[in-house]
Amino acid sequence: MVRRGVESGSLDQGLKRQVLAHDIELRFGTALPEAASGIRATGPRGSYAIVVGYVFRTTLPDALVGVLSDRLAPKGYAYLVTAGGRATLACCIFADCANYRGYLDRTVSFFQARTGIDLAGAQRFGGTGNVRLPATARRNGGGTLLAGEAAGFQDALWGFGLRYAMVSGHLAARALLERDPGSYDRRWRARFGGLMRASLVNRYFFARLGDRGYDAFLRHLGAAEDAREWLRRHYAPSVWKDLWYLLLRRAD
Ligand SMILES: Cc1cc2nc3c(=O)[nH]c(=O)nc-3n(C[C@H](O)[C@H](O)[C@H](O)COP(=O)(O)OP(=O)(O)OC[C@H]3O[C@@H](n4cnc5c(N)ncnc54)[C@H](O)[C@@H]3O)c2cc1C
Repeated sequence: MVRRGVESGSLDQGLKRQVLAHDIELRFGTALPEAASGIRATGPRGSYAIVVGYVFRTTLPDALVGVLSDRLAPKGYAYLVTAGGRATLACCIFADCANYRGYLDRTVSFFQARTGIDLAGAQRFGGTGNVRLPATARRNGGGTLLAGEAAGFQDALWGFGLRYAMVSGHLAARALLERDPGSYDRRWRARFGGLMRASLVNRYFFARLGDRGYDAFLRHLGAAEDAREWLRRHYAPSVWKDLWYLLLRRAD
């Protein structure tokens, strides 16, 4: 399970170790000026979705449970992940975000009733997500390359952006190292522009399913011989998804 934050073994601490091993200077508590050139990866602006939840210790065996229900997480999903004595419970909400507290309480009750989880000592966490497919991920006359959610790069269907952040950061760095910042837009479009278009179309349809539609979605997924392969096809770019994307963009 990928962990974030200051504790040892987290993704952030791993990245920090790699950075320091290359004698790169880290400056904490200092804001990057808007006009700074180079790579800007300052995270989400605006909120497309909200994630709220708890991390806590548990004696439950390792498991990953996802729930699709507009009662727990409108147009999104709730989940409980347990791994090695640690648990993460959250709801990822794509509508009615102002009432996130009520949805989180219901998600807690839902899992408590089924698993008996104990939230004593639990730490609350939360954050927002931003998704948009920009015409360009360059700013300030092209000298600033936006990476990760600062550019809007993220999977629109479920709100997963870690891989997008790293891949786009890598592509931005490559463009700078090859003294060709102008190629950045071409690079990210070629690498994941199609995936993002597909994810925006998937989100459009998913948001219209409702609880009955979620049932059908899960039945299809459950009946698939290989669920990962089924999801891979669901995520894959295609001509019809590109056409839908164009239609949706026009209607926007
Ligand atoms: C609760 C939650 C759960 C998630 N779970 C998953 C998941 O399971 N899988 C997945 O793939 N994605 C997940 N995501 C999404 C994923 O975390 C993000 O898409 C990803 O972290 C984006 O990376 P980033 O580097 O663009 O931005 P961030 O990780 O947000 O990092 C941006 C950093 O820039 C700093 N910053 C902001 N402004 C400035 C400034 N002016 N100067 C200097 N620094 C600044 C911020 O403090 C922050 O440290 C989750 C998001 C949330 C909120």
